[in-house]
Amino acid sequence: LLDALADQAAIAIERTRLAEDIDEARLLAETERLRSALLTSISHDLRTPLASIIGAITSLRSYGERYGAETRGELMATVQDEAERLNRFVGNLLDMTRLESGALELKSDYVDMSEIVGTALDRTAKIMHGHRVEIDLAVDLPMVKLDAVLMEQVLVNLLDNAAKYAPVGTTVKLEARHNDDEIVIDVVDEGPGIPQDALERVFDKFYRVRQGDRQRAGTGLGLAICRGFVEALGGRITATNRTDRAGAILRITFPKALAASVELLVGADHE
Ligand code: ADP
Repeated sequence: LLDALADQAAIAIERTRLAEDIDEARLLAETERLRSALLTSISHDLRTPLASIIGAITSLRSYGERYGAETRGELMATVQDEAERLNRFVGNLLDMTRLESGALELKSDYVDMSEIVGTALDRTAKIMHGHRVEIDLAVDLPMVKLDAVLMEQVLVNLLDNAAKYAPVGTTVKLEARHNDDEIVIDVVDEGPGIPQDALERVFDKFYRVRQGDRQRAGTGLGLAICRGFVEALGGRITATNRTDRAGAILRITFPKALAASVELLVGADHE
């Protein structure tokens, strides 16, 4: 009887091992599939701006002397815009890698939100030049303990999206206020808004809302990075739509616990 039981146990163990092997093989195949989908998507995103750059440079070299100054200027602008887009994309990929590998080193300090907003606006001035920008920061906004560089990148990504999805000539508002519990920062635009069923998915890596032939260049990484960064900073980020008119609201909230208390600030003055 003991021998029979031992045999049965051995068979059961062997079956489990086989099932585990199959699970592992499936997992490996799935990982491999995702990796190659990711590479295809990244290669495509790198190729589009590269094709424009090569096209513009080839045209300039072949016919540059026959072109007028205006056409030459336009071709050079294409090269610059596309190279900057490549630069942003590579920056996004690096940010994403830092996030996912856990290599994000936070340098948290008490920072003045208006300074961060100022730097983010400087960095996006070129992309935002076709939009009106309205800034509304509460005068009594407390200092917040966070990593200024990450927070700045979050605002840059949100402003970049507002400029990309809301038509030229419309207004982009950047508002910051606070209540008893939270500090709230909104980036509000007058674009098409985000479809109701995509409000959560827009924060997924590589997710992009289909916009037919009006699809704008992008990577689908911007908001995933924003969420990763904001959560690493101790806050939350959500997307909603305006109710007064068309437009998206991207909202970041930080708990008041991250804000400098009045005593702490007074203490800091005496240092
Ligand atoms: P990307 O802009 O590179 O596509 P994001 O992760 O920044 O990637 O955004 C994901 C998707 O969310 C975008 O493709 C777009 O469809 C939608 N989206 C983001 N911001 C806005 C906005 N301000 N207005 C409308 N749609 C937006």
